[in-house]
Parts: sequence; C-alpha cells; structure tokens
Amino acid sequence: MSMQDVPEYKRTGIITVNELKRLGLLPSEERLRKGPVAIAECPEQIPCNICVDACPFKAISMNTINDIPRIDWDKCIGCGVCVAKCPGLAIFVVDLSRKDKALVTVPHEFLPAPRRGDEVVLLGRDGGRLGRGRVVKVWEYNRTWIVTVEVPRELAMEVRAIWVEKK
Ligand code: SF4
Ligand code: SF4
Repeated sequence: MSMQDVPEYKRTGIITVNELKRLGLLPSEERLRKGPVAIAECPEQIPCNICVDACPFKAISMNTINDIPRIDWDKCIGCGVCVAKCPGLAIFVVDLSRKDKALVTVPHEFLPAPRRGDEVVLLGRDGGRLGRGRVVKVWEYNRTWIVTVEVPRELAMEVRAIWVEKK
C-alpha cells in the first residue's frame, strides 16, 4: 500500500468531514434538520462495541465486534447516552433543527465542570479554538460531562470539544 492509499486520518490522527462523508458516517442534511442525531466518528476497526449495547433505542449496530459502528439515523433520537458511554469520546450529537444556531453535544472530562448558561471555548477535532458558545444542557455520567452547546450553524460539523475557562 502506498502512502497515497493510506486514509488521511491514519496519517494525521484527525478525521475530516470529507472522510466521514466518504465513509458514510454522516447523516443527511435533511435528517440533521429534523432534530438531534448521533454521529460516531469511529472509523477504526477496534474490538469495541460498547455503543451498540448502550443505545436504548437499538439504533447502533455492528456485524462483528471489530466492525465500525453504524447508526440508524431514523431510529436515533439524539438522547446522548452513547456520547456518555463511548470510552473513545468519539460520539457526538448534532441538531440543526433551529434556524439561528446549531446544537452540538460533546463529552467533556476536564475540570472545571461546565454549567448551564456558561460561555465556553469551542474546539475543533485538532483542539484548535473555533469561537465561543453557550452551554444549554449538562449532565454527568461516570465522571464524564455530556455538554450541549449552542454553536454557529456553520460550525456544527467542526466543534467537537469545549474548554471551560477558570473564573
Ligand atoms: S443518541 Fe441515543 S438514540 Fe441515538 S444512537 Fe446514541 S444512544 Fe442511541
Ligand atoms: S463505543 Fe466508541 S470507541 Fe467503541 S465502537 Fe462505539 S464509537 Fe467506537
């Protein structure tokens, strides 16, 4: 296999929106506009299927434990349980149903804990700062915070983490 055949995310460690699309891991624009929906950014064939059992709606499937997770976006209601339970912090929920802002739900494992109403720094897949957004919902599972933030619509597919500044 030449270097050109190696997917970009294997070389950089960071998957891009185009690669997610190519792998069929992104829901359609139409589905995103209907309401919250999960996106598993997990393209590696690793022996993990925690998300399959975690989903209360049986929306995630795999043929074998080494497969990549596939989400049935018609069954998914965007509850975020899989975001909380994925040990790889690789699942997010995106909601484009509002006209003004998008909502993105991300896992967060750093202190200080975010609180509803906080303005936080929005980070991309590479950890780079993309702007600021407001926390609209936070819940905790096993020391992971599941945080929903309002973001500019054009950043819905880019924001994948937050940073809470110390006060
Ligand atoms: S967001 Fe909820 S319904 Fe959707 S795949 Fe995850 S656990 Fe299942
Ligand atoms: S739980 Fe996370 S790391 Fe494991 S298969 Fe699902 S998305 Fe991938």
